[in-house]
Amino acid sequence: MEYSFNKHELILNLEKSEFLYKDGYGPGVPIFTHKGIKVIDNFIELFERELKEKKIKYSKLVHKHMISLDDFRKAYNKINNYENEVIRTGNTCVMSDALLQNVFYLKKIAFVENYVKTVFSVNSIYREKTGKLIPLYRDKNIFPVVQIDHLVHKSKLNKTIVLLKDLYLNFYKKLGIEIKFLKASEVPEYASFELYFLAQEKSKFTKLGMIYVLYSQFRQNLKLSDEYYLINSGFSGKSLFYSIESASNYMGELFIPTSSVHIINKIAKSDKLNKVIKIFNEEKISFYIDEYEKNTYKKWKKSGDFALLVLHEKYTLHIKTMNMPVTFNNINTMIKCLIDNFYKVSTELLNYSRSNIQQNLETSTLQLCENCITYSYYGLIETENTMTCLNCGKVINYLIFNIDPKDRFY
Ligand SMILES: [Zn+2]
Repeated sequence: MEYSFNKHELILNLEKSEFLYKDGYGPGVPIFTHKGIKVIDNFIELFERELKEKKIKYSKLVHKHMISLDDFRKAYNKINNYENEVIRTGNTCVMSDALLQNVFYLKKIAFVENYVKTVFSVNSIYREKTGKLIPLYRDKNIFPVVQIDHLVHKSKLNKTIVLLKDLYLNFYKKLGIEIKFLKASEVPEYASFELYFLAQEKSKFTKLGMIYVLYSQFRQNLKLSDEYYLINSGFSGKSLFYSIESASNYMGELFIPTSSVHIINKIAKSDKLNKVIKIFNEEKISFYIDEYEKNTYKKWKKSGDFALLVLHEKYTLHIKTMNMPVTFNNINTMIKCLIDNFYKVSTELLNYSRSNIQQNLETSTLQLCENCITYSYYGLIETENTMTCLNCGKVINYLIFNIDPKDRFY
């Protein structure tokens, strides 16, 4: 059943499934359909639920797209010149990172006592790029960009990082993805601490997101007090693309983990639909109601979506992982079957992802401490359990990521 989709094939499948419009506004600016937007909404909601589960209090912000060019220049002064990546008109430019706007907000409330100093924002940003572009995976107009920024007192820095790691680890697990934390130093002029979400991509590695503690120059540019640290973390639509890619490879056909259940109502006057909607809402199952057409089943088959529920005198459930549809008399039994199958496939996807990354880590890591390695390496991969350095016996909680640091990957 397993298959190895290349990205072009996957995009063709996503177009066929009516996830995104073919061509969009041109390379790098994909246009998502109603369905694509719903999948993206579910993806963001999954993350927001995780934030709430971790009891992280936050302000949710959406920013305007145009920002002051002056602010942009001041913020990146002596750090890096990103001006070739932004589109300018007069004294403004299109937002290329939500960080600045998030920080402006945080600064405004920084010294208000007991105020929540965490910002959660979902935006689209624009960065001029050349080279190969793949919708969701590598775009000029990047959407969604999910970012969390914290302004934390230095005494709470480590505690916040631990909390964030737990948050992201769980979020990716729910997407069916096993990530590893890679500590590296790629942008030392920008961040004093860099932790990347490492994932497996065929025989290569890829990064799905990161946690940064921003460097003092950045704090200076933004006139932030030395008492506070700025933690910037997040991910983009690439994580969604990756979850679809990994799930589709496992299933051997297009599969979208954050899809919605299609509901087809074949009986017009019935309270069945209302009952189903009520329970779906209670169980936080995303759905959309579709018109019945002759090709409904065929359409669903190529949609990559997990389930199709047909309401007639009974309930008939089609599930991606079952060969045959099942018909139920009882609504609760039907819901249970749906949820059980969803958890079953989520677990399978996670196991698949886990074994993929573990296999590749075996050949790309060394069980040595930092003192026992004499040449330069990419970074450190954090491990769940402690180990001992095979050379000197020192207790370590990381493996050496034995890749040439010059071979930078994204
Ligand atoms: Zn050692």
